[in-house]
Amino acid sequence: MNCSICGKKYGKQSIKVVQNKKDAMLVHVNCDFCQSASLAVIKKSLQNNDNMVTLGILTDLDYEEACNVLRREPISLNEVLDLYNQVK
Ligand SMILES: [Zn+2]
Repeated sequence: MNCSICGKKYGKQSIKVVQNKKDAMLVHVNCDFCQSASLAVIKKSLQNNDNMVTLGILTDLDYEEACNVLRREPISLNEVLDLYNQVK
């Protein structure tokens, strides 16, 4: 998984799971190089281990804030996925 801003590969410690569902996860990534933060949806492949990043959103939120927002706001990972399917 690469940074959408500077293109560098994220380190393992830069990727934190915000929500984990059976077929997808929402992760918060923080780039070590350009310090940009993004939320990304990773679709899990059931056939093999090729997890696919389907959506990345630049955010000002850090990991803790992202978790808090998702807990507070009536937005779920499924809604994020719906949104993605609509704009696709
Ligand atoms: Zn970067």
